Amino acid sequence: MQNTNVLISGAGIAGIALAYWLRRHGFSVTVVERAETIREGGYKVDIRGAALEVVERMGLLDEIRSMRTDVRAGSVVNAAGRRVASMDGDTFGGRVHGDAEILRGDLHRMLFEHTKDDVTYVFDDSIVSLNEGREGVDVTFASGKADVYDLVVGADGLHSATRALAFGPEERFLRDLGYYISIFSTPNHLNLDREELTYIGPGRTALAYSTAKDAGAKAMFLFSSDPVSYDHRDRAQQERILRDAYAGEGWEVPRMLDGVADAADFYFDSLSQVHMERWSKGRVVLLGDAAYCASPASGQGTSLALVGAYVLAGELAAAGGDHEAGFEGYERELRTFVDANQKLGPSNIKRMVMRGKGQVRFSMAMLSLISRMPGKEKMLAKVVAPIHQAANAISLKSY
Ligand SMILES: Cc1cc2nc3c(=O)[nH]c(=O)nc-3n(C[C@H](O)[C@H](O)[C@H](O)COP(=O)(O)OP(=O)(O)OC[C@H]3O[C@@H](n4cnc5c(N)ncnc54)[C@H](O)[C@@H]3O)c2cc1C
Repeated sequence: MQNTNVLISGAGIAGIALAYWLRRHGFSVTVVERAETIREGGYKVDIRGAALEVVERMGLLDEIRSMRTDVRAGSVVNAAGRRVASMDGDTFGGRVHGDAEILRGDLHRMLFEHTKDDVTYVFDDSIVSLNEGREGVDVTFASGKADVYDLVVGADGLHSATRALAFGPEERFLRDLGYYISIFSTPNHLNLDREELTYIGPGRTALAYSTAKDAGAKAMFLFSSDPVSYDHRDRAQQERILRDAYAGEGWEVPRMLDGVADAADFYFDSLSQVHMERWSKGRVVLLGDAAYCASPASGQGTSLALVGAYVLAGELAAAGGDHEAGFEGYERELRTFVDANQKLGPSNIKRMVMRGKGQVRFSMAMLSLISRMPGKEKMLAKVVAPIHQAANAISLKSY
């Protein structure tokens, strides 16, 4: 095997899952993460289709099922908090065929625990320069350290620094969908018990839920907006943008926003996608959101990260570590799957955030009607069928 010394930038779901598979195929792996520790925040995420097969091959499916959110009901509420449409949790979340829903943070921690003993993790550091030579890539880090690696993988998310260094500024690759998202932990003011509530205002949606695994609750905000310029590392500025966007909004929104400054796991970003013609350049390759972010609206970011990690490691191993052949195989096996899942983002978001008051009223009335109809599960299964088709749009090879 050649090229066995691999550096991964980013200890997110994609980076850690790749570290797992590379180790299993005999590579030696270092992961450098900018944060001081793994970032456990985030909403609940679904593992569907091919990604279920990947976690089963990792031997993690039972553990994931034991950590399931067990959200039992979902309702749409009006500004006064009255539930106008209610359904069981799986129907509300569009889950079928054993799909697993787990808190992103729980999955993240689980993957870390399964890799921490045989992967070198370096926290609180990041790559500042990459120089490729014939035998490897010279890397320097913000800490001042320097080293040479056979291959470098950028799994450092939507605003990937590795992508910027190797491929150019993010403006070339990011497509803004016209929305922003924020997620953070909040006290369970509403005493929710494994229930999710969704409030829909014009251009502004807000959600709150509690899970079996979480003593508190989580809040999520999704709003439409023209592009806003902000500093990705300035949390106070992002909190201000969020508060301004929801000023005067009803339901529990003011109380949820009151707690934002106390949340340890505040997350804010634009809903954007990443589109690139190639995911590799020489000895540098991108994975997960850095390469092909489909946006949280696709509901498939985690599954794309897990499947991509499996395929990238598998193709590299199958090519005996030859990066040109391995990266070629990664593109060939994964492209169609990525394209199918990226298509979900723009269409799903239109069902999640309504344009004006008229559309809000119409949607509430329809949801209320549907929720009382016999056979509503079948009807809603048709609505989410494209997600399941996309989630299964790859046949996984055995490596
Ligand atoms: C805190 C957090 C909460 C999230 N919550 C949700 C959610 O609720 N719903 C949803 O759909 N998606 C969420 N996401 C995005 C979701 O995790 C990804 O779409 C998906 O899991 C693919 O993951 P990824 O590993 O490619 O990217 P990410 O999850 O973004 O992970 C990238 C990792 O790289 C690190 N990093 C960034 N820049 C550098 C750098 N320069 N050097 C080193 N490390 C760097 C980040 O700290 C992070 O740990 C969240 C992401 C984060 C980081």
